Amino acid sequence: MSKNIDKYLHKDMNKEAGIDHVNHRTKIVATVGPACDTYEKLLELVQAGVNVFRLNFSHGSHEDKARIIEHIRNINKTQPYNISILADLQGPKLRVGEILNNALEVKVGDILTFTNEKCIGTLEKIYVSYPNLAGDVTIGNIILIDDGKLEVKVVSIEKNGDVKVVVTLGGILSSKKGINLPDTKISLPALTEKDLADLEFIIEQKCDWVALSFVRSVNDIVDLKRRLREKQSKSKIIAKIEKPEALTNIRDIIVESDGIMVARGDLGVELPVERIPLIQKELIRKCLHRAKPVIVATQMMESMIDRVKPNRSEITDVANAVLEGADAVMLSGETATGQHPALVVQTMRKIIMEVESKEYRYNRSEDLKPQPHSPSFHSDAVCYNACKISEDVQAKALIGMTQSGYTAFMLSSYRPSSPLYIFTKEKTLVNQLSLSWGVRAFYYAEEDSLDDIIFDQINILKERGFVNTNDVVVNTGSTPVHLHLPTNIIKITKAE
Ligand code: PGA
Ligand code: MN
Repeated sequence: MSKNIDKYLHKDMNKEAGIDHVNHRTKIVATVGPACDTYEKLLELVQAGVNVFRLNFSHGSHEDKARIIEHIRNINKTQPYNISILADLQGPKLRVGEILNNALEVKVGDILTFTNEKCIGTLEKIYVSYPNLAGDVTIGNIILIDDGKLEVKVVSIEKNGDVKVVVTLGGILSSKKGINLPDTKISLPALTEKDLADLEFIIEQKCDWVALSFVRSVNDIVDLKRRLREKQSKSKIIAKIEKPEALTNIRDIIVESDGIMVARGDLGVELPVERIPLIQKELIRKCLHRAKPVIVATQMMESMIDRVKPNRSEITDVANAVLEGADAVMLSGETATGQHPALVVQTMRKIIMEVESKEYRYNRSEDLKPQPHSPSFHSDAVCYNACKISEDVQAKALIGMTQSGYTAFMLSSYRPSSPLYIFTKEKTLVNQLSLSWGVRAFYYAEEDSLDDIIFDQINILKERGFVNTNDVVVNTGSTPVHLHLPTNIIKITKAE
């Protein structure tokens, strides 16, 4: 028996009873909205397989968000889950203002005027939430409205700051639609005033992850990181990749961020849509290489917003994201406003489980090997080989310990075949790691000898039903324990 088990079974963190059935390894992120924002519905989604809830700060009030956060925290307290909260900042998203009667028909060849003075939009003038529009655009620049459903081209820039455009793709324009300027370097800051107010709330609420929309340069991430650090926030950062500029600076952005999102919605407006598949593949590869979690987002199960079965192409899209090695796949409107939130999650989980049961791992290539020039080369090599050993000996558990999260992300990035369990004394990490491929995290704060620690950890897994007598377990850790060095040992144990 393990000694003093109550001492480290932290009541809020490690549930004494009940085993979760979260055995899909590619994680599911679900966006919360009116279709699922009660305690009961959120719990239903969790039981269907959600690992991370995304709160989209483009919609809803802080009051609503606070209520949702409380529900999620209550689920974590009373149920055997560690659901993570991802707060998604709107960033410099540009929009048109109110439109008269919420519908304005614009035809090819019409000349429209965009202004930064608030007004009700008509064929005369349309408000755009972009003070320096006239300063940033040049004649000939394309402006896309409502995810590219409408398209206009700049024809003249007036002295008073108005911009005249000619319609090149017509349709019905309604209020508050988003606009994208793929040709234009936008001079707005990465964090708008709204974002700063939202960030304050997010820090107060201790959300696990903060996502930043429309990241353009690594400085956007550096700035956000500084703001979080100033407030002693432990939130980790997701860079949403949805601008061409981000792709040009992608290496630095990945290095500086804690994870990224392939935000296919806006990316497909800002770039020719046909470029999305290979960009997605490449971003996933780069993130695996640097052991950073990567989320594939938008329109994964779109048709299920109002139907009970997904399109065949959507099934294949989810399956391909799993095969490419994504850490997580994301649902947006499907769970936020759709008609069958829980059914979508169940369906998505079934697709993931089917692929993982046959070909559960990203096909590790040689370039995922530990890199000698990396400052963490030695611990990377221990993690890499622990994954190999656990496969060779068919371990029922691969166990890692971390304080910074690094070992967890590193072990996960090799997509080990053995179930991966992470123990940490950093409480915020327990939930944060729910985003990371294959990770189940536990709170554990004892600092005895490594023998005792390994003994305890195996016992905790036994008591939770994850490990049985005679199972082979592979542990990684570091000695001397009190020095908290990067991972430096591997041990194989046969559970008693
Ligand atoms: P959004 O981000 O839903 O906040 O726009 C995702 C995307 O653009 O794909
Ligand atoms: Mn977006």
